[in-house]
Amino acid sequence: MTSLWFDRSRSTPQPTLDEGLSFDYVVVGAGLTGLVTALLLARGGAEVAVVEARRIGAAATGNTTAKLSLLQGTRLSEISSKHSEATTQHYVDANEEGQQWLLRYCEAHDIPVQRETAYTYANTAAGTDSVRAELRACASAGLDVEWTEELPELPFPTYGAVRLDNQAQFDPMSVLEGLAADLLERGVPIFENTRVQSVSRRNGGQSIETDHGSVQAKRVVLATGTPILDRGGYFARLEPERSYALAFTVPGPIPRGMYLSADKPSRSLRYAPGTGEDLLLVGGNGHPVGRSDSPATLVEDIVEWTQTHFPGAQLTHSWSAQDYTAIDELPYVGTLLPGLDSILVATGYAKWGMTNAVAAALALASREFGGQLAWADAMRSWRPSQLVGLPKAAQANAGVGLNMATGWLRAALSTESSPPKEGAGNVDRSGIRPVATCTVDGVTKRVSAVCPHLYGIVKWNDAERSWDCPLHGSRFDSDGKVLEGPVTSNLQALPPR
Ligand SMILES: Cc1cc2nc3c(=O)[nH]c(=O)nc-3n(C[C@H](O)[C@H](O)[C@H](O)COP(=O)(O)OP(=O)(O)OC[C@H]3O[C@@H](n4cnc5c(N)ncnc54)[C@H](O)[C@@H]3O)c2cc1C
Repeated sequence: MTSLWFDRSRSTPQPTLDEGLSFDYVVVGAGLTGLVTALLLARGGAEVAVVEARRIGAAATGNTTAKLSLLQGTRLSEISSKHSEATTQHYVDANEEGQQWLLRYCEAHDIPVQRETAYTYANTAAGTDSVRAELRACASAGLDVEWTEELPELPFPTYGAVRLDNQAQFDPMSVLEGLAADLLERGVPIFENTRVQSVSRRNGGQSIETDHGSVQAKRVVLATGTPILDRGGYFARLEPERSYALAFTVPGPIPRGMYLSADKPSRSLRYAPGTGEDLLLVGGNGHPVGRSDSPATLVEDIVEWTQTHFPGAQLTHSWSAQDYTAIDELPYVGTLLPGLDSILVATGYAKWGMTNAVAAALALASREFGGQLAWADAMRSWRPSQLVGLPKAAQANAGVGLNMATGWLRAALSTESSPPKEGAGNVDRSGIRPVATCTVDGVTKRVSAVCPHLYGIVKWNDAERSWDCPLHGSRFDSDGKVLEGPVTSNLQALPPR
């Protein structure tokens, strides 16, 4: 599945790592967090390199819906229900600073941005209360929001909405391409197709081991979506959620606003400017990674929904991606471990990374240059306030435990069956070993079904043709090669039967 943005992208491939180099900072991950952090550090005079496991933007940023908005669904009411007014205000201030930085950057680099109104709306009468709660939370934080009953652009019934004018949207790959060009011009190398496998102390600095040799740095920034090193246990404090986005041509009018439903079915709408006609983007149907029986059915559900409400809509692209939500709803930005200044992390944007990634980069860079942004404490990676997330952590980790047990049990109770049909995959048992078997492009492949991260049993994703771990969101392609998540090594390859 290829996103509209990747399909349009003309980014220049970058080389793999040159072994033996040494930098002040190695930034791991070339999404929005990594590239903005690298740029800010380089602007401050540091010697920086970026190391990316796949291609620039390959994980969330190149597959987002790229709304740059301070009205973020029901985010602010969720945050304010767990945190003080001051902390909620700091979250808004951080996002506003991230938004304004990115808007200025796009303007200065001729990257197209569309300024539009953002809406959070209710699909059902029962959803109206949560939209009203969002209105209150946004208004208390000083956002210029309004209540509206009428959404004439939407061809289906709604039950009230909050609106915030003058927000923005863009093509996220054009932003990443602009940042990458800027970095390369400043002499910051970007190494693609180079996966970091471990980071360890050596000679007073950090040695970063990759599948293309090692590189040295005084400090490392893990801008990898979810942090790849298990130190700090972020995997147990973050919930990975996968969701779907589709692009359509539509014969009739396409809404100009950026819409997000507060209740089910979750739907995100915006337009994407085209060379001839605009496209309608529709997203939704999110679920914890690796826990849907058929992601392809969820994609089909969005197609049907769109063709019902926008008759004649024709699918041009469909894709999916995942993002991570912290147990207490706020991002984690700062040291990997308390007091460990040499490895930094930024994660947990809860599908609002366009503003949060930039805020995180600003917070990290300012910290490195001895500054302190007033709002940055609210996002600190080791903040006492995250204790309010303990009930959610218990719930999330109970889900992890349940999926661990059911995955192993299902594998133990089955024996190896006939090869799956084209595009399908199943997990069964060969002797005592859980085996994942799939058939893709006419070839049947077998790999170990045990995720090397924390030994969950992977599940077939029939939309992406990937193996997804229901524990902490690690994903692998049909050959067992790592795609994303906290894991750094592949599923073990097994010989054909
Ligand atoms: C479907 C969807 C829609 C969204 N829509 C919006 C929206 O409208 N507005 C909004 O604000 N936010 C949105 N988000 C959230 C936003 O896209 C993300 O929060 C943001 O892109 C995260 O950026 P990042 O740079 O932190 O992570 P990523 O873009 O995921 O970048 C991490 C990079 O690290 C690399 N990496 C991982 N492991 C390694 C390793 N071991 N070695 C080297 N490199 C590694 C990955 O390949 C990847 O390129 C959406 C998210 C999803 C899933």
